[in-house]
Amino acid sequence: KAKSDGRSTYHFFESGMDAALQQRRSIEAGLRVALQRNELRLVFQPLLGMSENRVTCVEALLRWDHDNRTISPAEFIPIAEETGLIVPIGEWVLREACKTAATWPGDVRIAVNLSPIQFKNRDLVGLVKSALADAKLAPTRLELEITESLLLADSDSTIRALHELRAMGVRISMDDFGTGYSSLSYLRSFPFDKIKIDRSFMRDLTKRGDSLAIIKAVIGLGQSLGMATTAEGVETEEQLEMVRSQGCSEVQGFLFSPPVPAAAMATLLQIDHVTPHRGGMRAS
Ligand code: C2E
Ligand code: MG
Ligand code: MG
Ligand code: MG
Repeated sequence: KAKSDGRSTYHFFESGMDAALQQRRSIEAGLRVALQRNELRLVFQPLLGMSENRVTCVEALLRWDHDNRTISPAEFIPIAEETGLIVPIGEWVLREACKTAATWPGDVRIAVNLSPIQFKNRDLVGLVKSALADAKLAPTRLELEITESLLLADSDSTIRALHELRAMGVRISMDDFGTGYSSLSYLRSFPFDKIKIDRSFMRDLTKRGDSLAIIKAVIGLGQSLGMATTAEGVETEEQLEMVRSQGCSEVQGFLFSPPVPAAAMATLLQIDHVTPHRGGMRAS
């Protein structure tokens, strides 16, 4: 019927667009007040160092509790980026993450995701310094993860900011490596300390030989460039063994722990020696 009546197809399509647009507008309006209403919170996921055999770093991940559901960052970060709201939200994330990390024992680092927009819109280095000082956290305890979901401007000011942060002792990671348009040229343009291999390569590691070949190559690339490598999305023992045997420096994934609230992470970090183990983390 739709084929014979182009008009009704058009109207059907149009109302579908309306729903998507309405959803987008409602997310945008909600996001504008989410900060004041305390609807944003952070959850934390551990990264395990392969040679240290313990949690070396913890990634802060944003959650938004709104209208009786939790909205995924995949849904609202792109809208926050388009509207510029990522700037105040990103500042809140950074300050909150540093404060939480300051309560953790030892030298565990905190990894915070940064949007490329945050490099454009303000004095990022000043913001990082102020967040660290307010939280009384050493710069060496902070890692900043940058994706190429949006292009990072290859400008002098971005490169200067990255060098300044590294000179302070802050580490810079390239997130979701292998999914963007310019992963390799990114490695050449910007000073990264760590490459995080995107989860999609892990997902079909055991089914597709080419994923294994790519992971091997990226770990080798990291080694020759003097960069650490993290495997994201490790869910099985089999995946763990594969990336471990290839010389990956760190692993992150549901095999060890999903993202958990701050209190649960604090408990997990009190356990002084945590090893990767079938079925999750345990004290040993
Ligand atoms: P990401 O930075 O690559 O974070 C890793 C994502 O993979 C997280 O999704 C995490 O929950 C998920 N993950 C970790 N291990 C596994 C696993 O074993 N299996 C599966 N299926 N998933 C796993 P999440 O929390 O939904 O975040 C999605 C993305 O949203 C993040 O990807 C990051 O790009 C963005 N994001 C999250 N928080 C922030 C933030 O504070 N600021 C910015 N700019 N972006 C953020
Ligand atoms: Mg990340
Ligand atoms: Mg990632
Ligand atoms: Mg990812």
